Amino acid sequence: MDLETLLALDRAHLWHPYASPSDPGPIYPVRAARGCRIELMDGRSLIDGMASWWCVIHGYNHPRLNQALCDQAARMAHVMFGGLTHEPAVRLAKTLVDLTPEPLEHVFFCDSGSVAVEVAIKMAIQFWIARGQPERHRLLSLRSGYHGDTWHAMSVCDPVTGMHHLFARALPKQLFAPAPSCRFGEPCPESELAPFAELIERHRHELAAVILEPIVQGAGGMRFYSAEYIKGVRALCDRFDVLLIADEIATGFGRTGSLFACAHAGIHPDIMAVGKALTGGYLSLAATLATARVAETIAGGTPGVFMHGPTFMANPLACAVANASIELLLEDDWQGALRRIEQGLELGLAPCRGRPGVSDVRVLGAIGVVELERPVPMRAVVPNFVELGVWVRPFARLIYLMPPYVIGETELARLCAAVVQVVAELPGLWAQEGRV
Ligand SMILES: *Cc1c(COP(=O)(O)O)cnc(C)c1O
Repeated sequence: MDLETLLALDRAHLWHPYASPSDPGPIYPVRAARGCRIELMDGRSLIDGMASWWCVIHGYNHPRLNQALCDQAARMAHVMFGGLTHEPAVRLAKTLVDLTPEPLEHVFFCDSGSVAVEVAIKMAIQFWIARGQPERHRLLSLRSGYHGDTWHAMSVCDPVTGMHHLFARALPKQLFAPAPSCRFGEPCPESELAPFAELIERHRHELAAVILEPIVQGAGGMRFYSAEYIKGVRALCDRFDVLLIADEIATGFGRTGSLFACAHAGIHPDIMAVGKALTGGYLSLAATLATARVAETIAGGTPGVFMHGPTFMANPLACAVANASIELLLEDDWQGALRRIEQGLELGLAPCRGRPGVSDVRVLGAIGVVELERPVPMRAVVPNFVELGVWVRPFARLIYLMPPYVIGETELARLCAAVVQVVAELPGLWAQEGRV
């Protein structure tokens, strides 16, 4: 198909994420991708700064992941998981149980991060039904959080930057504590936790669980907060007997410099959701892990079974590629790679500090963030990045980088230099928009 036809058909028939169906803004057709490069149909090659939304940790078109997928396809692409099981799923579950905090022992596979969050919430609510407290079905979350686009997941996203205003009538009403303002690596005074402590104490009789993204709040603002805050949350959940759900969908598999972000705080949640990088960005797969206490309580209640079962549960292709991706991650010195990326981002983004329009520059693991005073003029900025030979897609007031872990020093420096250049152009772009 030629470029023009493809773009015309895309415009006529396709929805893109969070975009207008009739005017989605610039869209770039991709012919292929390999390593840290995205090759456009017009022949341009872009250095990837996004890892396709946290997923592609080993780069695109990886021979080992390709092989795992082909080998599994030759055996079976799929079988239902009701009453049947298979080695790819069993191996993956065992690996996840071994890698995640110790008390997490039971794995529920599902098809996407949002569904993993729905499953986590459903587990928490069913836990309290089994305990004879069905009135405990509300959730306590943090402002600036993001947990996905399905209904209960949406209900615990930040009520202002999320989609609450649009769907307010249709969403369950949850509780929100202020976003933590103590930064990562810094202590967290008790006063910081006070609003959270007050909410959990006051509402404990109706709360099923607390849900949060440990250490890094992703799509809700790319904020990095103190591990002490999470320790405090864990202690309060214990004290008031409320379950803790950790949404590690974005942070899992090394992105923050530790395999799972909970490890920064040395805590374990009662329920944990993982997704995104689980398959190295090959297929949509997620998992919800629970402690024996959660699983056994659900089993001991009525109806005694957990009421969820996606059609493509534990899809063998996805599980096989996830097994290969985790193997690949652990056999390399991934911590060394993450440290090198962290240093490269620090060095490369430092010139943005103090520039006009920049309010903060922060780096953690393989995540680099330039926070701005105003929203990014997307329709000008994305094409500018493409002209500079990089794929960077900002949102709201954030320009951020989270490259594949295999990115080389030179490519990382080019990504950062492109961000520095675009940041320097911003005041002019804002002026053109009439925002200044
Ligand atoms: C992306 C994300 C989700 C949703 O995952 P999908 O696979 O897009 O449904 C949930 N929670 C967090 C923290 C995420 O980053």
